[in-house]
Amino acid sequence: MGPQCPNYRHLSLTLALLKPDITKMPYSLQHVRQMIIEKGFVIVKSNIISKMSRCKAEAFYEEHSSRFFYNRLVTYMSSGSVHAHILALPCNSVDDSNAITTWRKLMGPTKVMKTRYSEPDTIRGTFGLSDTRNCSHGSDSLETAKREIEFFFPDFDPIGFSGSLEEKELLRKHRDNLLTINQCKFVHS
Ligand code: ATP
Ligand code: MG
Repeated sequence: MGPQCPNYRHLSLTLALLKPDITKMPYSLQHVRQMIIEKGFVIVKSNIISKMSRCKAEAFYEEHSSRFFYNRLVTYMSSGSVHAHILALPCNSVDDSNAITTWRKLMGPTKVMKTRYSEPDTIRGTFGLSDTRNCSHGSDSLETAKREIEFFFPDFDPIGFSGSLEEKELLRKHRDNLLTINQCKFVHS
C-alpha cells in the first residue's frame, strides 16, 4: 500500500435522490450511475421507490412550501419512481462533508437552463430538462444529510454506522478495490 492509498477511518455520507425524469430513462439512468461510480462513491444503501406519495414529497420539500414552484415540485416528485441512495466517500473525520460537496458538484447548479451552458458535464447540465425536472437532489449540510438519510432510511443509524464493522468492511474493500456492485439494486457490498 503506497502513500496515495491511505487508511481512511470513516465514510462521509450524503443523501442522493434520482428524480422521476431520470429514473424513467434507462439509458440516462445508467449513465448517471456510471458517473457516481467513476467519482469513487461507495453506495452504502439504496431504496428504489416505485412511486413516491404526494404526502411524502410534500413533507420532504416542506422548507419550500411557500415558494411559487412548490406545487409543481411535489406534483413532479410524486409522478414516478424516485431512487434514494446513501453515497459515501472515505475520510478521516466524522465532521467531514466531502460526500455532500462532491455530490452537489457532480449534480451541478439547480437551474438547468443555465447549467447546460455553464457546467455541461454535470448531471443536471447533461440530462436536466427544466428548472424543476433537474434529475437529482443532494443534501446541503451535515445536519440536512442526517435528517434526509433518516427520512428515506429510517432503519439506518448514521451514528451507529460510524465506527461499525459494516463501515470498516466497506472502507477496506474500497481501499483494496474489492467493492462489488449489485446492478439491479445499485448498492455496493
Ligand atoms: P435539491 O434540494 O433538489 O438538491 P437544490 O438544493 O439545488 O436542489 P433548492 O433550492 O433546494 O435546489 O430547490 C429544490 C428543488 O426545487 C430543485 O432541485 C428544483 O427541482 C426545484 N426548484 C428550485 N428552484 C426552482 C425554480 N426557480 N423553478 C422551478 N423549480 C425550482
Ligand atoms: Mg436543496
